[in-house]
Formats: sequence, C-alpha cells, structure tokens
Amino acid sequence: MAASARHCIFCKILRREVPASIVREDSSTLAFMDIRPMNPGHVLVIPKTHAAYVEDLPAEAVGPILEAAMEISRAMRASGIRCEAVSFYLANGAGAGQEVSHAHLHLIPRWRGDGFGLRVRPDYGRIADCTELDAFALKIRTALGRSPD
Ligand code: AMP
Ligand code: ZN
Repeated sequence: MAASARHCIFCKILRREVPASIVREDSSTLAFMDIRPMNPGHVLVIPKTHAAYVEDLPAEAVGPILEAAMEISRAMRASGIRCEAVSFYLANGAGAGQEVSHAHLHLIPRWRGDGFGLRVRPDYGRIADCTELDAFALKIRTALGRSPD
C-alpha cells in the first residue's frame, strides 16, 4: 500500500481503522457523516480508490460517486433532516480548500436562509465579454485536445 493511502484519514475509515457514521457503501464508494458538518446532516461520498484529485481516479471510479450522491440526496430530502435542497461541493485541490487529499464529494443539506454560501471576489458580478470567454474556452479546448462536437 502506498504511504499516502496508509496515512490517509479517509482510507483509514475505509479500512475501518477509524470510526465513522456510515450512510451507504457499494463496491466502489463509501458515504459517511462529515465530522464537522457545515449544516446538520452533511455527508461525504468518497471513492474506494485513493487519489487526491478527481482526475487522478480511474475513469470507472468517478461515475459511481455521482450515482451514490444521487441516491443519498434523494434520501436526505425524505429523511426528516431539514433539507429543502442539497449543495454538492467538491474541492479539487488545496487551492480550492481541499484539506483531505482523498477525493470526496460533500452533500450538504440546505434551506433558504441557512446562512451558508460561497464567498466570492469583491468584483464578482461583472458579465464577461464574449472575446474573453472565447479565449478561455479556446485554452481549455486546446488542453482537452479534442474539437467541439
Ligand atoms: P475538504 O476541506 O473539502 O477537504 O473537506 C474535508 C472534510 O472532511 C471536512 O469537512 C472535515 O470535517 C471532514 N473530515 C475530516 N476528518 C474526518 C473524519 N475522521 N470523519 C468524518 N469527516 C472528516
Ligand atoms: Zn485515501
């Protein structure tokens, strides 16, 4: 086992070396309650494969994360937990606020006025012009290495 997985807190939960309140498990994912909930009922869905970033996961490990999230989101709304809506949040890298280097999707129960939100830059709100958007699209398209369909 790689040292990164040996010391990873989420891999320890997967190996049942650290306790967690488990919500759901299948062959490729585990979902459990976040120990420091942003709202009550906050769940994390993790792949069973250790990788820091989503793009480092094997392709077949990615889809099941969203499939698990879909079921859990529906269950959260039906559970009696305060949950008018669910925020899906994934910090893909330390610069985006990722603290645990094992990819994970947050499912956060939401309701109007819950005080939860994304903090944005002070100049947020400006509508970008088309030239600027086209330039960014071109950069990403080029990095993708495929032409648009
Ligand atoms: P992030 O900042 O996106 O990397 O989120 C990591 C999340 O993992 C945080 O919300 C933590 O509260 C949560 N977390 C860290 N350790 C544990 C643990 N042992 N059990 C459950 N959740 C954890
Ligand atoms: Zn891990």
